[in-house]
Amino acid sequence: MTGRRRTYARPCSHTGCREVSQIEYTARRDLEGVSKTWTCRHHSKPDETLSPTNQETEAILTLHPSYINSYREGEPPRLVGYFWGPQDAEKGSHGIVSGPGFWAEAKNFPPGTRLIVTARIELPDEEA
Ligand SMILES: [Zn+2]
Repeated sequence: MTGRRRTYARPCSHTGCREVSQIEYTARRDLEGVSKTWTCRHHSKPDETLSPTNQETEAILTLHPSYINSYREGEPPRLVGYFWGPQDAEKGSHGIVSGPGFWAEAKNFPPGTRLIVTARIELPDEEA
C-alpha cells in the first residue's frame, strides 16, 4: 500500500523573499517534527552568501578533542582523537573537511591547528 506523494511548501520567513522549501510526503505523520517556519540559506546566514556587494567570506575551524567515557568506574574519559569544528564551537564533528581545491584530514595535524577557509569573488571589469 503506497500513499499519494504530496508536497509541503514553506516560503522563506524573510519578508519579500521568494525562496520556497519543498518537502515531499505521503502521510501527514511524515511531517511531524517539521518546523512550520523556514528561512532560506541566504537569509539565515547572510554573511556567508557571496554577492556583488559581499565579495569575500572567511570561516575558521580548529581541532577539538573528542573523548569517550570509560566503562570502568573511576577511570577518566579516553581521548578518541581530534575533529574539525568552528573555532567558537564546543566540539568538532568532522574528521575530514573539504571543498573545491582543498582536503584536510584532522589526523594529519597537531592540536591547536587552525584551518582558515576563504572564498573571494572577482567580478569582471566593468565596461566603460
Ligand atoms: Zn529568504
